[in-house]
Formats: sequence, structure tokens, C-alpha cells
Amino acid sequence: MIDPFGRVVEYLRVSVTDRCDFRCVYCMAEDMNFLPKADLLSLEELERVCAAFIRLGVKKLRLTGGEPLVRKNVMGLVERLGAHLGQGLEELTLTTNGSQLVTHAAGLKAAGVERINISLDTLDERKFAEITRWGRLPQVLEGIQAAKAAGLRIKINMVALKGVNEDEISSMLAWCGNQGFDLCLIETMPMGEVVHRAETHLPLDGVRQRLAQEFTLSPSHHATGGPARYWDVAETGGRIGFITPLSNHFCDDCNRVRLTCTGTLYMCLGQEDAADLRAPLRASADDTALEQAIHAAIARKPLGHNFDITRPAVARHMSLTGG
Ligand code: SAM
Ligand code: SF4
Repeated sequence: MIDPFGRVVEYLRVSVTDRCDFRCVYCMAEDMNFLPKADLLSLEELERVCAAFIRLGVKKLRLTGGEPLVRKNVMGLVERLGAHLGQGLEELTLTTNGSQLVTHAAGLKAAGVERINISLDTLDERKFAEITRWGRLPQVLEGIQAAKAAGLRIKINMVALKGVNEDEISSMLAWCGNQGFDLCLIETMPMGEVVHRAETHLPLDGVRQRLAQEFTLSPSHHATGGPARYWDVAETGGRIGFITPLSNHFCDDCNRVRLTCTGTLYMCLGQEDAADLRAPLRASADDTALEQAIHAAIARKPLGHNFDITRPAVARHMSLTGG
């Protein structure tokens, strides 16, 4: 699949549910309206769409949400997708808030997942409760240890928030180093209405310069084909990545599209245009129309987003597309 700008699309992110057991302040409003369950694709339908994407050239699949591990029977989907590994699919992975990993870490590894991203913005229990509204830090830390014990490689995603957790970035980097985890810092993105977003936006260039006074950072050769730019950290032997969609975006290399749990395909995180894949999926047991709809969507993938932190670029919250 090649888009109008010559970019090869080989990465699909699938939001398996828009629901979540947390209510992170930068991601969701306090009183979220969720999609009616009747609108959701079944797990079998999600697998069918994923299989079509794999046939058309997708090599990497990431399950996300909402919180992917709160979708009922999601592990059945993970197992069925794991069966595609080595048959066109090269990597199956997941982004999670960590709350359900005690239950599911070993099953993920058994299904062929090698590494996962876990979101953790602070190691301070009180701040964690404030940021996630409903989350509890000890539960997540236990989940992280369960993932480590299961042999999953871990990257911690930390949304950097001015006046909230910016004072913890260096200690988080040291903690990740001790644990053997990479760390990825993310700038807040203007998706959906939430409170205090513009005030807490923290440009990451300054953060990197401050970290460089404490740690020896050198540009890393590590590249995931994603928007993060990585630096090796000599003191910890680990890596730190920076995702800077506002201060310095990397849309030129974008290789991904995003499917929601209702079968809507977004060709860009920061644009409203989308393609409905549920109708062609349900119209026939044959995948011809579905594949045509996917090709038509890729043919109008836009060049990039125009994020401006003072107003939402799109009405939907991040929890719909999963980041
Ligand atoms: N619930 C899972 C989790 O938290 O990891 C997966 C879905 S969550 C939407 C995926 C990632 O997006 C998380 O790392 C989260 O911190 C990040 N995120 C959510 N809203 C964001 C926003 N407005 N700007 C930047 N990152 C955001
Ligand atoms: Fe849930 Fe993840 Fe959004 Fe937090 S960032 S509310 S954990 S979907």
C-alpha cells in the first residue's frame, strides 16, 4: 500500500475499545460518552479486517484503545492475530496502561508479543491518581513487574506535562534505566476538548537540553519507523525517545493508519477524514469490497497534521484512535 506521497503504509494500529478503566486528564473528559456496544466490531470482525491489512502489506500491528486489555475476551483476538506472525505479519504489539497486566502478561508473551508500551506519567502515587483520575499506581507497578517477569521488553510512555510531572523526568529516566526499560516522552496533542491542555503543554526540546546536563545523550541508530527520535543514555545503557508532534513533527515518514473499534479507518491522527470499513466488511463474506475500500482510503492519506495546542485539531479524543 503506497500513499499519494510515496510513503509505504505497513503499520496498522487498532483501537479495540474506546472504553478505559482510567480517565487521564489529557486524554479524556471527566464525563465521557462511549460508543454504543452495538456499534462495535466483533473480535472476529476485527481479526478479519486485520487479516485483510496483512494481505495488503501490513507488517506491524499494535493493539490499543481505550484500554485494550479491558475489552472482553481480547486475549482470544491476540492469539488469533499471533497466528499471523511469520505469515506476513512481523510484529504484534500493544499499548496499555498496565492495569490488567498481572492477569494478561504471560498470555501476551505466549501469543507471540515480544515487546509492549506501558503508559506511566509519574512514580508519585498521589500525582498518579490526579493524572489518571481513576488509576492506582501500585496496581500498575505490579503489572509492569508481571510483564518484565513474563519476558516482555518494555517501553514506558510518559506524557510530559508542564507543572505536573516535568520535575520527575530525570528520575523516571534513571528508574527506567535500572529496570531495563526504554523511556519515550510525548508532547500533549490537541485531540478532543479537555481541561488545561494548553497550560500543561511542555515542548520537549528544552527537556532534552536539560537532561543532557545530567546524562550523556548521543543520537541513537534505533528507529522504529515511528515519530520518536531516540538517544542513547550512556549512564543507564538504555534509550530515551522524544515524540514532538507540536514542536517538530515527522509526518514525512508516516507509515501508519488507525482503525477504531467500530471499523472506521483514520489515515492521519490529526485530521477528520476517515473511511468506513464496517459497511464493506458486513456487506459480504468475500473481502473484495473491503480490500477496495482500504486501497481507496490509502489513496487519500493526507500529508500530515496541523496541530495547534490552543484548539483541538479534531473533535475525537485520543482514546478513540489510541494514539
Ligand atoms: N490506554 C492505553 C494507554 O494509556 O497506554 C492505550 C491508549 S492511550 C490513548 C495511548 C497513548 O496515548 C498513551 O501513552 C497516552 O498517554 C497517550 N495519550 C493520550 N492522550 C494524549 C494526548 N492528548 N496527547 C498525547 N498523548 C496522549
Ligand atoms: Fe485510558 Fe490510556 Fe486514555 Fe489514560 S491515556 S484515559 S489509560 S486510554
